[in-house]
Amino acid sequence: MGEPWREMLGAGRDVAVERRDLMKALLSLAALGAATALGASAIPSMAARAATAPAVEASPSSQHPQIPPWGFDLAGRDTAVAPGNDFYDFANGAFVKKLVIPPDRSRYGAFDALQALSERRVRGILEKAAGDSEARTEKGKIGAFYRAFMDERRANALGDKPIAAELTAIRAADSREKLATLMGQGAESFYGSIFDVDVEVDEKNPDRYAVYLGQSGLGLPDRDYYLDASFAAKKAKYQAYVAQMLGLIGWPDADAEAQAIVDMETQIAKASWSRVQERDPTKTYNPLTPAELVKSAPGFDWIGYLAAAGLGRADRVVVAESDAIPKIAAIFAATPVKTLQAWEAFNVADSAAPFLSKPFVDANFEFRAKTLRGQLEQRPRWKRAVSLVNRDMGFAVGRLYVAEYFPPPSRAKMLALVGNIRAALAARIQRVDWMSEATKAKALRKLSMLNVKVGYPTKWRDYSALSISGDDLVGDVRRASAFEWRRRLDHLGQPVDKTEWSLTPQTVNAYYSPPRNEIVFPAAILQPPFFDPAADPAIDYGGIGGVIGHEMTHGFDDQGRHFDGAGRLTDWWSAADDAKFRARAKVLGEQYSATEPLPGVHINGDQTMGENIADLGGLLLALDAYHASLDGRPAPVLSGLTGDQRVFLGWAQVWRGAIRPDALKEQLVADVHSPDTARVNNVVRNIDAWYAAWNIKPGDKLYLAPDQRVHIW
Ligand SMILES: [Zn+2]
Repeated sequence: MGEPWREMLGAGRDVAVERRDLMKALLSLAALGAATALGASAIPSMAARAATAPAVEASPSSQHPQIPPWGFDLAGRDTAVAPGNDFYDFANGAFVKKLVIPPDRSRYGAFDALQALSERRVRGILEKAAGDSEARTEKGKIGAFYRAFMDERRANALGDKPIAAELTAIRAADSREKLATLMGQGAESFYGSIFDVDVEVDEKNPDRYAVYLGQSGLGLPDRDYYLDASFAAKKAKYQAYVAQMLGLIGWPDADAEAQAIVDMETQIAKASWSRVQERDPTKTYNPLTPAELVKSAPGFDWIGYLAAAGLGRADRVVVAESDAIPKIAAIFAATPVKTLQAWEAFNVADSAAPFLSKPFVDANFEFRAKTLRGQLEQRPRWKRAVSLVNRDMGFAVGRLYVAEYFPPPSRAKMLALVGNIRAALAARIQRVDWMSEATKAKALRKLSMLNVKVGYPTKWRDYSALSISGDDLVGDVRRASAFEWRRRLDHLGQPVDKTEWSLTPQTVNAYYSPPRNEIVFPAAILQPPFFDPAADPAIDYGGIGGVIGHEMTHGFDDQGRHFDGAGRLTDWWSAADDAKFRARAKVLGEQYSATEPLPGVHINGDQTMGENIADLGGLLLALDAYHASLDGRPAPVLSGLTGDQRVFLGWAQVWRGAIRPDALKEQLVADVHSPDTARVNNVVRNIDAWYAAWNIKPGDKLYLAPDQRVHIW
């Protein structure tokens, strides 16, 4: 489906697609699915409500910090914990102890509370719009889309009828060529595909777009779920889910086909690259002509596939996992047509399930949210409706959202903060002792070319070509997917649209895009605990300052550093500097890999490398910029806490929360972000100023001797 970072209503369906985009075009602050896809309950349990006490619904223009007394939740600390033993718990322990994850979520914390606020606001916007009968206006369309999803009675009455056309086409697809054609249509419909195709900025020619092709085809969150024995129970339940879905659509031999489908996906998993392999932007850039693709990966009808995707005239395809693609094509060629048809039928039912009748919705929830992530209850229907409209018409919603909820001064204040953090990074690049002058000059040039986007796009997306009926939910989703894919196809041959955003303003997240060399901060993250102009500046530096630094550092992490200031994938480092960078990164990776958030499950230090470097750099830059902002004056002491102490607390506060064990395990295996506890503890222990601020001594659990601390930026 077109926009790969999109959250999925059924939670976590599209990990393989999401991954490619996260790797190739977008480095976000936090797992996109995590904060956005799962939704909070409308009325959180009393305990959760008490634990999320800081009243984020207060007027944004308030002169008082929204989290009293000066922006940090003092009562949320656990002062019985020594900061040097567990800084995360010291800063957040009392809050975390009281926190009850709402039953319709698999995690809950500072990010999620803000996302829940955004969700409630969008609900208000959509309910108002739903009363608008003029379906041709943008507002009328989002209202109609919301109405269509909310009509549960109609969805229940229709059963699987809304996907009858797809199922008929699959039954008629009695050859591999015909099935490849359906897979090509997957970019704009409910059909699944064993390959992922997309149109994004060309990493070697960032003024133009390119067609990208990558591995796909897995219904579980990661290849490890098929291959690692510790996931055997989940894999068995997946097979049962496949059989259940096939049964619901009346597909013959459901049990036998489910077994064959999981066997085929297991072969694909074996052929697929790991997330660590996918981190190398040079190895994942392999341009081929369609003729070369046909020759290099026989067994799949590439020409028919590309034509069906609307890419019949593309003369060049950038292949990501070079040696996995031929293997997956060979698996396709060796799999019986009957199994491929069943696989496609399952994929359609699975993708469309959130929009079908109750048996589909329930089965989808039971497996994808409950079994995989431990979520106890289905999200209320209105939240799923909000997610859908955010996903498919998110910028139309965002336009109304910012008019109501984004006060103009926030943008100016953010731009000033970004300027201070940028100056801090420039000073650090000049200061580092391991980088040559020549490479430093290029790094500074890249930093000077960094583009900054704050709040909302200057140019809004035009939805006038999209028609929404309001009484045909599946049809509306189909039309919205086709509209989005057409929008992407139209990019081909055009100069890159520099005004485009990859996240909507109402999303609580932020990102860096290497081929665009830009950092982007949607309006919804510019709120407490990240950002509150009325709070103590040290808290804002630790919160949004650290986030800004995090995104900026992505331009210089293990992936981002391979792109120059223009966004071009090119090697601008000297060999000696490259070796020194890798040596430092390796030590950081080893520190994270030694961390065991769940018994027997370690962080993968290579997979999370870019995020860990960004966290470390981000917090350092926040501290530097805070010091510079004092302009030589001493920092005030508030509630007995020094300025530096408050910057560290501000950083820790944005990562507070709790996560269910299954969801944590999924994150450890399938996400590039380290768990929230590590985003605090593994970061601070590498920062000299943290030792001074909290008087950390040898013997404290987080203590690292000075020569073991990693200094990159
Ligand atoms: Zn990041």
